[in-house]
Amino acid sequence: MGLSREALAGWLADDLGLSAADVEGTTRRIWTALYRHAHADISSIPGVRGEIRRRLAAAGRIDALSLDEIREAADGTKKLLFKTDEGAIVESVVIPGKERSTLCISSQIGCAMRCAFCLTGKMGLRGDLNTAEIIGQVIQARRTIDADPESRTPPLSNVVFMGMGEPLHNPDAVIPATRTLIDHEGLDLSARRVTVSTSGIVPAIDRLGQESPVQLAVSLNATTDEVRDWLMPINRKYPIAALLGAIRRYPLRQRARVLVEYVLLAGVNDGAGDVERLAALVRDLPVKINLIAFNPHPGSELSRPSPTHVLHFRDELRARGVAAGIRATRGDETMAACGQLGRPPGAEQAGARRVRSLPIASLR
Ligand code: SF4
Repeated sequence: MGLSREALAGWLADDLGLSAADVEGTTRRIWTALYRHAHADISSIPGVRGEIRRRLAAAGRIDALSLDEIREAADGTKKLLFKTDEGAIVESVVIPGKERSTLCISSQIGCAMRCAFCLTGKMGLRGDLNTAEIIGQVIQARRTIDADPESRTPPLSNVVFMGMGEPLHNPDAVIPATRTLIDHEGLDLSARRVTVSTSGIVPAIDRLGQESPVQLAVSLNATTDEVRDWLMPINRKYPIAALLGAIRRYPLRQRARVLVEYVLLAGVNDGAGDVERLAALVRDLPVKINLIAFNPHPGSELSRPSPTHVLHFRDELRARGVAAGIRATRGDETMAACGQLGRPPGAEQAGARRVRSLPIASLR
């Protein structure tokens, strides 16, 4: 599942020894079976000859992750817990809307960025997911939704890279995954409905903009470098001005905007001065601010502002001409809300793997 279409054709020719006449049609049938029909069994791909099926079954498999558990919250949000071959847990969250569902997926096991408000950050980085494991979360979530006998969850149309991990700390796996998700002969998701959310790795934002047409979301969360250095250590390497420069350069379709996420933390980044500075920072930028009231988790010393204060913060931004909204919190009871994926330090997480991405020290 992690292969591009060209790489899949190359694998069929070079590793499985298919003739040139068989490669094109077999590639197309496998691609359609995987992504259009979320087919699970490599030995029964429709339209593929028996001899080729046998060779496929001997050489590979479809799912890189095994779905271990589904936890459903009262609001219909489903947390999917997957296991890697090494036994590490990977988490995705299905968030049903009225007519469409959104899937929040993970890109790493844990995260190296250590944002002060995030439970995943407290795990540290245990490993990168590969492209097959990233796309596999989407395919298996789709199967889960399709298998719901009462169809209580609307079809999946949005994918957001907002689960465990910093997607742009693992760009070699994430960027090809975004391209497969929007492939017209495959899952065919709209590029406007696939969003990569980053804490602000500036060169990788530029690379994403050059290599994939998907949406960008940037987690800002502070209006001064002093506060952001403390909340998000990545700021010491790429401070606010550099991040805003990357937003300015990001290629956008007409009327599209970069989403700027701002987690409101009581007494830390939610004052009157923050409203003024935030409005000034994003003036003239094609952005929409998404305010998120902090989700408390065990062991956190940070707290959430009152709902009234969140509304006031939004209204003050709007009064200054800034497009701003509030993201509703979903799935609190299953720990499936923003910044709540993963396990705190000390909790068991098997199967740490070799990390292919940059060590955090090189980002500071
Ligand atoms: S907020 Fe995102 S980038 Fe920061 S520690 Fe959590 S998962 Fe990593």
